[in-house]
Amino acid sequence: MQSIIFATSNAHKVQEVAGMLGPAWQVQGLTNFPQVELPEETGTTFEANAILKAKAASVALLGHWVLADDSGLEVDALNGQPGVYSARYAGPQATDADNRTKLKHELGKLTPSIFRGRFRCCLALAKEGQILHLTHGTVEGQLRLDEQGNGGFGYDPLFQPDGFDDTFGVLPAEIKNQLSHRARALQDMQNWLKSHEG
Ligand code: IMP
Repeated sequence: MQSIIFATSNAHKVQEVAGMLGPAWQVQGLTNFPQVELPEETGTTFEANAILKAKAASVALLGHWVLADDSGLEVDALNGQPGVYSARYAGPQATDADNRTKLKHELGKLTPSIFRGRFRCCLALAKEGQILHLTHGTVEGQLRLDEQGNGGFGYDPLFQPDGFDDTFGVLPAEIKNQLSHRARALQDMQNWLKSHEG
């Protein structure tokens, strides 16, 4: 079994990536490594923040392959907000529910009836402080003003991917894990990992 550490304390993300990589991989999140502190996300792009996190965690966890992601939601009518600030849209200590409330409030002030947006993810793989590979993934869709379902996390109950009538909060995890931004970035990362096995 191959082993990789996913530099996040978001249990939902660890669960998604473990499910997508399958049984050949042991995926551990940072809850198993409480000594590792991630740096502040000071970057202005998903890529910059993913690199920051992957480098720092891979220096703290020498000898391990370390994966880090930075992801978020861009809404066209909000000029790409919340973007890299998705996790702290409603403030530094905001919960997912607080962020969804803020998003509904901001969208409610606008007139369009259809709000286009996308989730973006950048994944960075590092070892001993060196970035080995970077991948990106996007899923396009529209934002709803009413929450639907309580599956997934973050903005999932408000995001309806193109081609579906339900949000990620309703759609089964197997569907989200086939088409999400994280799934797409991970697919490319998996291809790279396969070609560099051993
Ligand atoms: P990060 O931990 O800095 O990458 O923060 C990402 C934030 O973007 C999360 O806290 C969520 O608010 C949002 N986000 C990222 N991926 C997803 C997803 O798959 N579903 C819903 N929200 C997401």
